[in-house]
Amino acid sequence: MKKRETITIDGSLGEGGGQVLRSSLALSLVTGKPFRIVNIRAGRKKPGLLRQHLTSVLAATEISGAVCDGAEIGSCELVFRPEEVRPGDYRFAVGTAGSTTLVLQTILPALMLASKPSRLTLEGGTHNPFAPPFDFLFHTFLPQLARFGPKVEAKLIRPGFYPAGGGRMEIEIGAVSSLQPVDLYERGADAGRRVVAHVAALNPEIADRAFERIKKRLGWERSLCEIVEHPAQCGPGFVLVGEVRSAHITESFVGFGEKGVRSEQVADALVDGVRDYLAAVAPVGEFLADQLLLPLALAGGGGFRTIRLSRHARTNIDVIHQFLSTRLEIAGADDRGVEIRAVS
Ligand code: ATP
Repeated sequence: MKKRETITIDGSLGEGGGQVLRSSLALSLVTGKPFRIVNIRAGRKKPGLLRQHLTSVLAATEISGAVCDGAEIGSCELVFRPEEVRPGDYRFAVGTAGSTTLVLQTILPALMLASKPSRLTLEGGTHNPFAPPFDFLFHTFLPQLARFGPKVEAKLIRPGFYPAGGGRMEIEIGAVSSLQPVDLYERGADAGRRVVAHVAALNPEIADRAFERIKKRLGWERSLCEIVEHPAQCGPGFVLVGEVRSAHITESFVGFGEKGVRSEQVADALVDGVRDYLAAVAPVGEFLADQLLLPLALAGGGGFRTIRLSRHARTNIDVIHQFLSTRLEIAGADDRGVEIRAVS
């Protein structure tokens, strides 16, 4: 077999978080290039692999028959050598409230570029702070991904909130042979707003109080707000998701309920995100920006405009450049936002 050169990744790169590992796994699966990562999550309080990251490593290993050294909790170093990606029917369970959407982020690029469709069942957290909530995946990320070609359908079977976890989602992944370039520079016409409050094992009155606050600060009427009550065994959980819909994009903003945090404060977190976005003109928000970089690079052309490029996104660009020859260039930065283009 042809000897493949192993790429060395420094996990302390940029903000030194879990993204360096996830993007490396995703790109290794897509390109077939093996890598060794050191200093995994060196920038975090508890460095090394946590349950969520380990599940991503194990999932990447399983779908590609990879040889992997260092896959254990707390590990700060890993060697990953993938074989060919095998599309199919898989189930991965994080085992804690760790984010299932971040596990998906790791294996989705390779499965959507595989020879056949796949079906995933993912269990764990579906609405976690510091990760894309299911609603963001469904309304914001996947519709944009579809413009690159792949049709991916996500279904929430039951939510998993922090700290209990126990959520489940099912993902149907349609495979394509390559991604087509996408241009996303404008929002397009206003297409409405909406707020959903996910509530489990808590009094739904907390959602009404949050809606009052949203009305006061954003002027969004109660008719735009909906309460989705989940079975008590999914709780306790309280998550608010606000959508700003435009012709070319729907952006989502979240407020996470926590023990000891007032409902109005949960609403305030959402309102701050929405206001920040509405004060700008670029279509792509801060979180979607770092998540679109990989499809953009794999498409090898096209670009988007984002309200700002986070340190997280810059770190992701550095990782992408270690695996792919396509360059992600900052084509302009002005009061309309930051423009990123893929150049091959
Ligand atoms: P770490 O290992 O560093 O503790 P992590 O592996 O859980 O963290 P990060 O490296 O911080 O995660 O990456 C978080 C990912 O979740 C990023 O892709 C980011 O865009 C996404 N994300 C975080 N918050 C949101 C949000 N509110 N809405 C959508 N996406 C989000």
